[in-house]
Amino acid sequence: MNKTLKRNLSWRPTEKTAVKEHSVTGALLDLFLPSLCALCNEKEVEEVFCAKCSVDFETERLTGARCPICSEPFMSQEAVDHTCVVCLKSPPPFIEAISLYYYSGAVLNALHGLKYRGDISMAGPLGKIIRKGLAKRGLRPDIIIPVPLHIKRLKERGFNQSLLIAKEAAKALRIPLDYRGLKRVRDTGAQVGLGRTGRAENIKGAFKTVRPKEYDGKTVLLIDDVYTTGATARECATVLKNSGASISVITLARAARF
Ligand SMILES: [Zn+2]
Ligand SMILES: [Zn+2]
Repeated sequence: MNKTLKRNLSWRPTEKTAVKEHSVTGALLDLFLPSLCALCNEKEVEEVFCAKCSVDFETERLTGARCPICSEPFMSQEAVDHTCVVCLKSPPPFIEAISLYYYSGAVLNALHGLKYRGDISMAGPLGKIIRKGLAKRGLRPDIIIPVPLHIKRLKERGFNQSLLIAKEAAKALRIPLDYRGLKRVRDTGAQVGLGRTGRAENIKGAFKTVRPKEYDGKTVLLIDDVYTTGATARECATVLKNSGASISVITLARAARF
């Protein structure tokens, strides 16, 4: 466990301290150390990672035909963009859910490093990638909201990886970051091992908005690390939509068809 994470844990971390800790540490490191590739520690860093890791990362990019609503990729080479069966049967409460990469290879490595090995230096590069993805699509929401963790999970992990990524993207784009307005009020446990229906049922009623009036008429961008069945994104978006917002979602990665 790295020192920063250890400190966060012993401080009974909150999202606020995690962000503060990250920015102070990051600023100090930037002053005294040259930035290394967050994936392999190589000294020659290009825009985000070193040349080799950039190639590895780009190999995972979602290309080809996909669902314009949820980014579900279609395997057939001949396929053109069309609404997938899931979105047809059950139209989601969000306008679109963009995913940039497959959840495999260097992308999976980067996210596991951040999430499970507490390597928060990964948040900067991943936030930069999200920011570039948003800029490319010309998305400029009124508010950016990271998908929240339940307080129990936050204490275990010491930080919310989605908040750290969202913070970097929001700062670069100068869009307000709201990490307190949407709460995960029920501890749903891990979704791993549950099917599509199980995940949707498990997460039902897990989120609520603290000040719902603040979202009325606003465009909100939800940021999360991975999109699997979309159950989490749908549940968060439902709550925000009920508060009068229109929602888009961006995730770094999309797990293969579930
Ligand atoms: Zn590298
Ligand atoms: Zn779809």
